[in-house]
Amino acid sequence: EKANIRTTLSHFYEAINNNSSPAIRFIRSRVERMSVWWIQAGLKMRQSNKKTVLTQMKVLVYPGALAGSAGQRFEAMVEKGGPLGELVQWADLSACLTILGHNLTVIGAAPGRGSCPVQRPLTFDLIYTDYHGLVHLQGAMGLAFQHYKCRFRILDSFGTEPAFNLESYAHSRGYTTQWGSWGLQPLQYMTMFPHTPDNSFLGFVSEEAVREEELEPDTHGKDRIAVIYGKQDYMWQGKTEYVNMIHEELETHATVYQPPGHGSNLPSFITNHGLLTQDRFLQLLRRAKVFVGLGFPYEGPAPIEAIALGCVLLQPRFDPPHSSDNNDFYKGKPTTRQISSQHPYAEQFIGKPHVWTVDMNNRTDVQGAVKAILRTQVKPFTPRELTCEGMLERVQAYIRHQWADLTGIDLKTVPTWPPESALRLHLGPLGQSCVSVCRRSSLVCEPALFHHLNSPATFTRLGLSCSSMVEEVNHLFPAYSPWGRHCGLQQEPLLFSCAGSDPSQRRLCPCRANLPGQVALCPECL
Ligand code: UDP
Repeated sequence: EKANIRTTLSHFYEAINNNSSPAIRFIRSRVERMSVWWIQAGLKMRQSNKKTVLTQMKVLVYPGALAGSAGQRFEAMVEKGGPLGELVQWADLSACLTILGHNLTVIGAAPGRGSCPVQRPLTFDLIYTDYHGLVHLQGAMGLAFQHYKCRFRILDSFGTEPAFNLESYAHSRGYTTQWGSWGLQPLQYMTMFPHTPDNSFLGFVSEEAVREEELEPDTHGKDRIAVIYGKQDYMWQGKTEYVNMIHEELETHATVYQPPGHGSNLPSFITNHGLLTQDRFLQLLRRAKVFVGLGFPYEGPAPIEAIALGCVLLQPRFDPPHSSDNNDFYKGKPTTRQISSQHPYAEQFIGKPHVWTVDMNNRTDVQGAVKAILRTQVKPFTPRELTCEGMLERVQAYIRHQWADLTGIDLKTVPTWPPESALRLHLGPLGQSCVSVCRRSSLVCEPALFHHLNSPATFTRLGLSCSSMVEEVNHLFPAYSPWGRHCGLQQEPLLFSCAGSDPSQRRLCPCRANLPGQVALCPECL
C-alpha cells in the first residue's frame, strides 16, 4: 500500500475516537485549530512531489508519559499549569503522520484503557514513544524488544547525547543517568528543538506568521501589553524586581493557574487571566507587544508562538550557563549542553529584532531593551522548520531515508543518508565540540557522515602527521591531540558524536550545509 498525501485529518480523529482525557482533549483541539494549515500544506506537498511514492507505514503513537500512574499525575496537571509542550509535540506529530498518509494507531490516556497493543510478530513498522513508553513496551515485548529496537523513535525534548546512550561507556566514564543507556542509535531520539544534531530534530508547528492583511494596518494590532510567561506561581519567585521594570513601561498580563480558594501571590498590578485554553492564550498574544520570559520553563513552544504572532520575546541570559552540573532541572538529563538563556533556540536561531536576551538583574540592560522594543515595529515571524510545510518535509525525509539506515539492519552497517557529497570536513580548534565547530562556519554537524572521515587518510588530508594512531571507544574520536601528535579513530559507531569537547583534543568534524530555515535537511538530502 502507498502512502498518499491526505488533505483531511479524519483518519486522526478516528484514531483517537472515544478518548476524552484532558490530555487527549488538548491534543484534539490543537489539531482541529491548526487543521486548515495542515490541509493547505498537504495540498501544496501533493502538487510538488508527485514523483515520490512512499510505502504506507503502520505507526504506533504511544505517549508513555500519559500511561500508568505517572500518566494520571500528568493528566491531573494538564488543566492546572503542568507542562504542555510534550502534548503540543504529540499533537503535531500525529497530524503530520496523518497528512503524510500513514496508518496511525494512537494509544492515549484513559483510565483502564486496556492492554498494550503490541503483538508478536510486531505489526507496526514504526513506534513513536518516549522514555516512559520505552520502559512499558520493553516490559510488554520481552525478548522481542531487542529484535524490534530499531523501529522505535523516542520523543525526547531535551535530547540524549551518544556518551550517555551506550551503557558500558556511560558507566565507565561517569555518564550514567536515570534516562539514557538504551543503546539505541542516537538518531532515534527526536528532540523538540535542534539541540545536538546527534539526535533527530522533530520539532513541532508554531502558529504561522499572521498574514499581513489580518493585521490592522497602522498599529500591527498591538496594544502596549506585556504577557509574562509562566503558568505557575513558583516560576515568579524572586523575579519581582524584573517584573516591576516591565510594568513601568507596559500593562502586564499573565496566565497563571490559580487553585480555587487560594489567593494570588502575584504582584497586584498583574492582570491574571488564569490558565487559558490554547485558543484564548493565542488571542492574548495577538494583542501583546512583548512576551516576557522569567527564566523558567526552559525551551518551550510558547515563545515561538509569541514571535509568530508578532510579539518580541524578552528573556533572561544565563551567565554562567545552566547545565546538568549546576541546575536541578537539567540534573540527570543525558546531555552536557550549556543553556545560555531561557530559550537558546530563540536566541541563536531567531535573535533580534524578535528576541532580546538580557541580564534580568541589570536595570540598565532591561530598561534599555524594553525601550528599544517599544520603538521597533516587528513583523510576525516563524522559522520555516516550525511550519506545517517544514515539519511535513522533514518528517517525510526521515521516514524515507532513516528507515533504511536505522531499521532492520544490524547496527554496524554504515548510514547512506545524507550522501557523502554533502560532507564538508572541518578540523576544530582545541576544546570545541563539532556542534560549535560547524555552527561557526554556518554549517551543521552531521553524525551520519562521521564514518567517511574515520580513517588514517583523513589526518593526512588535513596535513596532520600522526606520531601514533589508535582506535578507541571514545565519544570525542576521531580527533587529534597536538601534544605528542596522537591521532585517534573511533572504534564504536554508536559513539560518533557531534556533542563532546575536551581541552586537549581537536575534533574532526563532518559538517554539511542546510536548507534555508530547515537545519535538519541539506540541499543534497531530499
Ligand atoms: N498555553 C496554553 N494556555 C496558557 C499558556 C500556555 O494553552 O495559558 C500553551 C501554549 O500555547 C503552548 C503550550 O501551552 O503551546 C506549552 O507551553 P510552554 O511553552 O509553557 O511549555 P511547557 O513548559 O508547558 O512544556
